[in-house]
Amino acid sequence: MDQYRVFGNPIAQSKSPFIHQQFAAQSKQLMNYQSEWVALDQFEVTVQKLIANKGKGANVTAPFKEQAFALCDKLSERAKLAGAVNTLIFSQGSIYGDTTDGIGLVSDLLRHQVQLQNSKILLLGAGGAAKGVVQSLLEQSPKSLTIANRTLIKAQAIAQQYPNDAIEAITFADTEQITFDIIINATSAGLSGDSLPISDQTIKCSNTCYDMVYGKDQTAFLKQAQQLGVEHIIDGLGMLVGQAAASFQLWTGINPDVEPVLESLRAQLT
Ligand code: NDP
Repeated sequence: MDQYRVFGNPIAQSKSPFIHQQFAAQSKQLMNYQSEWVALDQFEVTVQKLIANKGKGANVTAPFKEQAFALCDKLSERAKLAGAVNTLIFSQGSIYGDTTDGIGLVSDLLRHQVQLQNSKILLLGAGGAAKGVVQSLLEQSPKSLTIANRTLIKAQAIAQQYPNDAIEAITFADTEQITFDIIINATSAGLSGDSLPISDQTIKCSNTCYDMVYGKDQTAFLKQAQQLGVEHIIDGLGMLVGQAAASFQLWTGINPDVEPVLESLRAQLT
């Protein structure tokens, strides 16, 4: 049977095996997809072992996305821009790398009927998650894409990669002066219990607040948005399933149905 893995450290909580097993069952694909914990200095060796053992592909999560990028013989344009890879495809002795986080985010926003075209988007954060979604957001022709980050220089470095007047980098304080239609939280602030320095007024002016973080409880950012009556309030579970669907399609050519998988995952969270 064709072998697939998700590599990470830690990896025990990964939902990817469940998601891909559901996609494989839907489309009657013979696929063995498992999670594998990898020691920090063993990533390349582990990938080579998988290739030697009928490996057809792998997902890569923290902290190996940059190492995976460096290992690839060929890369998609969006992976080159992100500087990171979450999907590996092994074929004819070569390793191809792509990043599907942006597809996952955009498909989830569109599934919720959020209009991206001609919208003013604020992306909070400039880490791996933010970098991975910029190209996909720009492909939707927003009116503007603004990246705000605690460390401004990191947001500026991302914006400079794109020869596009529609993208700019600002501080959190600057967000007070501008209004946005869509606010996407790609920081890990919620995980450490910190709240985001985004004012009620900025949130209130938007029609969509999206948090890449997901879990049993709503994040502080989404709670704030709900209290302020924002129309679309969305967590990152759909992005997770959407990025997995895009990986599955790269491996098999089949576009799986995300809805039933998302429903089961949501039920498992509650
Ligand atoms: P990184 O560590 O690469 O980046 C973290 C980002 O959060 C940086 O921009 C950092 O700012 C910012 N940040 C951290 N703490 C604070 C704070 N207290 N106040 C303001 N900003 C803060 O993480 P990732 O980019 O890889 O991941 C970010 C989040 O996205 C994680 O919570 C992750 O779980 C989630 N994610 C969800 C996915 C999904 O499928 N739903 C996919 C990928 C990620 P600074 O640069 O100043 O340090």
